Formats: sequence, C-alpha cells, structure tokens
Amino acid sequence: MTEIEQRRQTAAARLADLKIDALLVSSPASVRYLTDYSGSNGLVLLSRGESHFFTDPRYGLEASQKITCRVHVAKKPLIDAVIAVLKRKKLKKTGFESAWMRFEDYSKLKQGLPSGFSLHPIGSVLEEQRMIKSAAEIERIRNSVNTNSRAFSAVLRQIKPGAREQEIAAALDFEMRRLGAEKPSFETIVAAGDRSALPHAHPSARPLGGNELLLIDMGATLDGYSSDMTRVAFTGAPPKRIRDLYRAVLEAQLAAMDSVRAGAVAGGVDAAARKVLKRHGLDREFIHSTGHGLGLEIHEPPRIGKRSKTKLQAGMAITIEPGAYVAGLGGVRIEDTILVTQNGCEVLTPTPKELVQI
Ligand code: ZN
Ligand code: ZN
Repeated sequence: MTEIEQRRQTAAARLADLKIDALLVSSPASVRYLTDYSGSNGLVLLSRGESHFFTDPRYGLEASQKITCRVHVAKKPLIDAVIAVLKRKKLKKTGFESAWMRFEDYSKLKQGLPSGFSLHPIGSVLEEQRMIKSAAEIERIRNSVNTNSRAFSAVLRQIKPGAREQEIAAALDFEMRRLGAEKPSFETIVAAGDRSALPHAHPSARPLGGNELLLIDMGATLDGYSSDMTRVAFTGAPPKRIRDLYRAVLEAQLAAMDSVRAGAVAGGVDAAARKVLKRHGLDREFIHSTGHGLGLEIHEPPRIGKRSKTKLQAGMAITIEPGAYVAGLGGVRIEDTILVTQNGCEVLTPTPKELVQI
C-alpha cells in the first residue's frame, strides 16, 4: 500500500466514529493529501469500501495515470457526479467540510439527494490527521526550508539602501523560483523602517533608507510543501534601542523553542514567549500568536496561541515567531520552521539569527 492509500484508509477509518457513511473532501490541500492531485478542480469522496476522485476532462489523463482510487472525469459540475455516486452506492449520511464546501455545491447536494439522505458538517478531521507529518513529508518541508533560506541569503547580499520594498520582494520571489520552488508560500513581506511595525505589510514602493530596520518574512513552496521564515536587518550600525528590542525578541523565541517537546501544550509554548517579552516590557507589543503548523498549507493546525490546548506531538512541523512592534521605532519578528521531536525540537531553518547589518 502506498503512503497516499494509507492516508485514505486512516481517514476512512474515522467515518464510523463520525457516524457518517461517506466524507466529501473539498479543501484543495486535503484533496492533494489524499490523492497527490494538485490541480484546481478536484473532489474526494471517502467511504469505507472505496474512495472516489472527481475532476474535469482537463485533468482526466493525469488523474487516471496517478490516482489509485476510482476516478470520475465529469463533463458536468463535479458535484452532480458526486450526487450520482452517493445515490448509486446508497451512501446516506455524508459528512462535509463546512469550512471548505462551497454554498453552491451544498445547495445542489441538498436538492439533488432523495429523502433519507442527509448532510453533516464535520470539523477539521483531515487537518488533524495532517498535523503529524510522515518521513516523506518532513523531507519535503526540509527541502522547502533550505531552498527558502538559500534564496534569502543570495538576495540579502545584494540589498542596498535605495532599493524599493517591491524590488526586494521581487528579487526574493525570483531567486526562490530559480532554485526550484513552485511559488512563494504566501505574499513575501518586505517592510522597511517604521513599516516594519506592521506585521503583515505588503511590499510598497518605499525605498529602503539608511539607519533603519528591514523585516523580511518569506516562504518557498516546493513539492506542495511550505516553509516560513522571518529575519530582520538594519542598514548601518543598529542603535541601542534596536539592539535591545532585537535581543528581547530573540530571547522570547529561544524560550518558546526551549519549551517545545512532544506532550507540551501549544498554549504553554506561546506563554513561554510572552513571559520573556513581558519581562522586557514588550508584552503589549506582541500582537499575534507565537506560531502555527505548516505543510501543504502555510497555516495549518496546530495554532501556537494563547488559548490553544493542543498537545504537541512528534512529527508536527510548526513555526515559532514572536515579535514586538513599536510604533515610531519599528518591528522585530524572528521566525523559524521547526520539527517537534520526542524530547524537544529540531530547528529546520539553517539561516543564522544575528541582527543582520547591511
Ligand atoms: Zn512568516
Ligand atoms: Zn508564520
């Protein structure tokens, strides 16, 4: 049995607990997880007996060659083909991903199924399964992280004051693709000067000045898997206020990573970072959560946040990224992608963490 078939079997084994006969999967990442299909129009229907994959004729050939479950190439809307299978196989109770199913598809299902058939929203069952990465997935994340860091280092060497945020972002995206990435995992963040205090700044036409902060947050998607890293540089010799801010955030990041191990509660990891920033009087400047899982999506469970009760397990790939954003001064965030292990964690990101001077 291949790993992909094993994933479908594991997911299908949950159906009895969920009291459903079939599970309709429409999240693109979960469809990819269960079939290796990476196109834009695919649905999976899991049942205890067999699994079905639905796509349109554009992907028919690719799907029939590599997908090992029943492939349905539909000339009509995919959901019509799903209805036909549910009726034919008498799969009466169908679970669906409420966060992902389109309302249009839901309405069609509701209208198209005879009486006695029912639809049931299910939570993030597949996201939960996807939290623990297999050896093959970890290898892909490793490649993605390394490619991302190589692109960062190559571009960093060439950045000079005067370059616009947009130009730096374009150079980073170009370099990661040149090194084999499919695409950036998210819109690359390049924020100079006081704009570094905006945690999700879009790159603008603002040129990088002298004696100011430069925050870069980037990820490269490779073989479908994401990476995520934030580093901060300063153009010139950083003044004490900036050095202190940087040291406090770095201390918080190391404390959070230190608290990571299988069995630790995600909320406790977040608290470890918050405690350090509080000691430095920066807790109110830390305005987001400490990290997130990543894999086929850039943001996946578990969330490493204040109220997160998830117990970390070996094989989870997560980010640790505390930050402090001081209006008028700027923001510092330090982010690595790490792997939870039995006794701690492995930091996958190879890029050094000193405050870079350019
Ligand atoms: Zn990031
Ligand atoms: Zn992140």
